[in-house]
Amino acid sequence: MIERKSTDNIKKMRAAGAIVGDTLRMLRGMAHEGVSLRELDRAAEALIKGRGAWPTFKGYHGFPASLCLSVNHEVVHGIPDQRKLKKGDLLSIDCGATLDGWVGDAAITLLIEPAAAELSELIETTKRSLFAGIEAAKVGNRVGDIGAAIEAVLNEKHYGIVRDYCGHGVGRKLHEDPQVPNYGKVGSGPRIQSGWTLALEPMVNLGGDDVHTLGNGWTVVTDDGKASAHYECSIAILDGGSEILTLTSTDEHP
Ligand code: MG
Ligand code: MG
Repeated sequence: MIERKSTDNIKKMRAAGAIVGDTLRMLRGMAHEGVSLRELDRAAEALIKGRGAWPTFKGYHGFPASLCLSVNHEVVHGIPDQRKLKKGDLLSIDCGATLDGWVGDAAITLLIEPAAAELSELIETTKRSLFAGIEAAKVGNRVGDIGAAIEAVLNEKHYGIVRDYCGHGVGRKLHEDPQVPNYGKVGSGPRIQSGWTLALEPMVNLGGDDVHTLGNGWTVVTDDGKASAHYECSIAILDGGSEILTLTSTDEHP
């Protein structure tokens, strides 16, 4: 069942989302050469808890940290540890916060400069595909239109599209219906309705589509060892268009 949220529900999700947005902004400023993944995780947890929220991922199916931090060929669900960031690294940061029972979920990918130009192009294109998906996520369209819009941007560059993981509904729970694949056919899938809240999240590989999970049971990596990027926003579908719920608290909402 796909739950339609009320205006009041969406207001609460906007508040949870702002904590995620602020956390990602802080981390973007902190992620420099020599900083450890664990330091980033601790800072994120402190900010989230300081705002009266809970880091949604911590303890989720037993996940041991507050952030998912995935470096280079790690795609998603990387575990923060003592590793230090190095020049040329690509870092994907996925963050969740639960406030007053409602979840915000968003991700960014950044580079520790100087880094290869092909990595910045991968990141920019991944971000562009997310915004194409957001554009397609509107009343009257179908879920397949979102995936088709994301896929069209990524196919221009012949990037790999991760098919084993996808976007999802978000709300009281981190993962709700519907699933929102990052590929699809125009005009397919359920019809999008106002009040839906979705997390769109293209996971994009420099090489092939295929990924596997490491022996720690969490970290997803590319089969070919090539880099991967991840961008995610939680959005609300409104009659007038979609609204991003995971902006920072100082960004202006429409
Ligand atoms: Mg996420
Ligand atoms: Mg998500």
